[in-house]
Amino acid sequence: MAPAAITPVSPPSPTLDNTSRLTKAGTITTLEKTISNGATVAELDASRLTITPNLNPKPVPAPNSPEVWSQSYTTDHMLTARWTEKHGWEAPEIRPYGPFSIMPTASVLHYATECFEGMKAYRGDDGKARLFRPDRNAKRFLQSATRIALPGFAPEEFLKLLKKFVGVEAPKWIAEKGSFIYIRPTMIATAAALGVQRPKEALMYIMMVMFPTLDDPSSRPPSVPTPGAPLSNGVTESKPVPASKGMRLCASRHDMIRAWPGGFGSAKVGANYGPSLVAQGEARARGYDQILWLFGEECYVTEAGGSNFFILWKNKQTGRKEMVTAPLGDGVILEGVTRASVLDLVRSGKLGDVDVTERKFTMHEVLEAHNEGRIIEAFGAGTAFFIAPVQDIHFRGTDLVLPLGQDDSKDGKKGDEFAMTIKGSLKDIMYGRWQHEWGCVIEEQTEMQYE
Ligand SMILES: *Cc1c(COP(=O)(O)O)cnc(C)c1O
Repeated sequence: MAPAAITPVSPPSPTLDNTSRLTKAGTITTLEKTISNGATVAELDASRLTITPNLNPKPVPAPNSPEVWSQSYTTDHMLTARWTEKHGWEAPEIRPYGPFSIMPTASVLHYATECFEGMKAYRGDDGKARLFRPDRNAKRFLQSATRIALPGFAPEEFLKLLKKFVGVEAPKWIAEKGSFIYIRPTMIATAAALGVQRPKEALMYIMMVMFPTLDDPSSRPPSVPTPGAPLSNGVTESKPVPASKGMRLCASRHDMIRAWPGGFGSAKVGANYGPSLVAQGEARARGYDQILWLFGEECYVTEAGGSNFFILWKNKQTGRKEMVTAPLGDGVILEGVTRASVLDLVRSGKLGDVDVTERKFTMHEVLEAHNEGRIIEAFGAGTAFFIAPVQDIHFRGTDLVLPLGQDDSKDGKKGDEFAMTIKGSLKDIMYGRWQHEWGCVIEEQTEMQYE
């Protein structure tokens, strides 16, 4: 269903209609107090949250239905918080999901002043709703925002808002044990001025979108083209992908770079994504799932689409099992929450005796390891695709078929055992089977509270 189809809701009570909410007792007075007390403006404050329920709720679509595959089916509500340079953060609101009105001169529409987060809420086997390490998303959200001159905020307050919002939507939208939903916190500069300058107005908002299980290629219905391709008009640039055993990667061409040292590849900003869609579209049309982004003449391996890239191989010198991924520090890699969790988990030794290395490595090293039969497996790690084992990599005319993509008869090994063990452990935490500090239990609102 398109967002525009949502009809305006009638107010649940006289004090909470859409026009009066900004002048509601407490909202403006709090701000004025803050300002008259000194030079400071209002901070983001979760205690000022108000809730306006949606009186036209939507049905929950079936798992893996076309609505879910469209990745556009949102829940009934969104959370919004407006910021102005003059007054700071206004009272946040949970209100019916629907379109924004924005000026054509708005900063975000011209200068890409937009950043976002991606996370999921899970319904555990124990019936509890959880987020996975959301404190990390909150901190990264702040880092991304300030990298592009959007306003700062206390990550703890954002986290409180996020939990409140999940608490409102979870009972209906992830009712079934084992279900999950995708959460997209966003910030845009709404300041209506074409001057190239730090924006004076911004909007933070959070929405939730139904997502299919992208990490399981076998769950992809044959009639549905690759993820992300348009569905509604029946026209698609992508071929339907035959059931594959794992993620298929296409290495980027030498004339297309995702990120560079000193740039903004380490910030989760929309500006990283728009320019990647040509390459992504070409790869999808050829049956690949993601671009494996390389950097420089040396062809350093950086990351794979919206996920970090890991390779497990036998180290050339030591002969030991080693998991390698690209390092942080020069701004080329996005520091994934999943990446950090994979590193922590493998370093803990719980998954066996594997060396862990964060270092620069090149596609030529991968090719050499492939030719010497040293590659054990490779996988992408990120919220959207979760832990996605790789079956092959196309690199400038060469097809590297990894063990997962080879005939099952060879060695009798599947080539995704390590990745699947990691995935199993992380899933256990997400769904409450492994009580772990990374699993953050959400307090849910059984009945919609209006205030
Ligand atoms: C979001 C993202 C990731 C994965 O981060 P997670 O926190 O694990 O979801 C990896 N690479 C890029 C470019 C991303 O935008």
